[in-house]
Amino acid sequence: MAHFLVTGGAGFIGSHLCDALLESGHRVTVLDDLSTGRRRNIAHLSEQPRFRFVEGSILDGELVERLVAEVDGVYHLAAVVGVKHVLDDPLRGMLVNLNGTERVLEAALARGCRVLIASSSEVFGKSVAVPFDEEDDTVLGPTRVPRWSYALAKLLDEHLALAYHRQRGLLTVVVRYFNAYGPRLDPRGYGSVVAHFLGQALTGQPLTVYGDGRQTRAFTFVGDTVRGTMAAMETEAAVGKVFNIGNGQAWTIEALAELIRRLVPQAGPIRHIPFERVYGPDFEETRHRAPATERAERLLGFRAEVPLEEGLRRTIPWFKEHLDELI
Ligand code: UDP
Repeated sequence: MAHFLVTGGAGFIGSHLCDALLESGHRVTVLDDLSTGRRRNIAHLSEQPRFRFVEGSILDGELVERLVAEVDGVYHLAAVVGVKHVLDDPLRGMLVNLNGTERVLEAALARGCRVLIASSSEVFGKSVAVPFDEEDDTVLGPTRVPRWSYALAKLLDEHLALAYHRQRGLLTVVVRYFNAYGPRLDPRGYGSVVAHFLGQALTGQPLTVYGDGRQTRAFTFVGDTVRGTMAAMETEAAVGKVFNIGNGQAWTIEALAELIRRLVPQAGPIRHIPFERVYGPDFEETRHRAPATERAERLLGFRAEVPLEEGLRRTIPWFKEHLDELI
């Protein structure tokens, strides 16, 4: 049994990670400021003696240091995430994502414990070389376009993690998540297309496909995301490396909308909306995104297993239960 700190543990992926760590017999401390995380995501764990929740910010260096001093490893998931959140407040996105990660890495260095940094497939930016290998170039647009500040902050987080490893000997590992979805995906839909579509479908509204709908994403069921994350933390050979954690199967957004319409009979029709109307004029899209999965398979023994249709079937009941928040 080990004791882990999960920053962002009240969030979507973080709360599922807590469930899995506790199921594996570990102790878990969560640090979350509840900005996008929700108390409800971890409410079912409150009676669990091996679980502790601390409300606070990763920017609070003293608190981070105190919590990290008690654990054997840190899963650092706390971040400002989602294209929409970042577009709403790019400055906060950059400052939290950079300064928070620096504080976590410094605290882990003082403690001498392993730390996993959650990055994002957003770092591949506008690259068209799908599927994306971990060693591929990242292709980001000009600084005029605020969207890319998120990818840049995450890339700098990755550089920090790798430099702390090379220069200070800290045991770091980086995972890049590809469009995770599942129960507890924020139904207020701050960007995630799956949450958006499920909310729209279950309330009988049209499904809003942005652009021509032929852009692609590799939707990854959160159970797979969590398994890959734990494998990265637990594998010796993962230290100092970056891993794609995602389902290798890419879908067009139009096909996702059609699938959801098939699974949710009351869904409205598909409605196409131009990108500019949603994101404003200074927006550049990521056209295609899918992970190369060989490195994670070879070094972590991890492969995403849940096909999209099955994952959606497991997700829809949770969205039905939380319909009141969708309307
Ligand atoms: N999208 C859409 N309709 C929506 C929300 C998103 O067509 O209601 C599109 C979005 O423009 C993007 C894709 O779905 O091309 C995935 O968007 P999301 O915000 O989930 O994540 P991203 O992969 O872009 O970070």
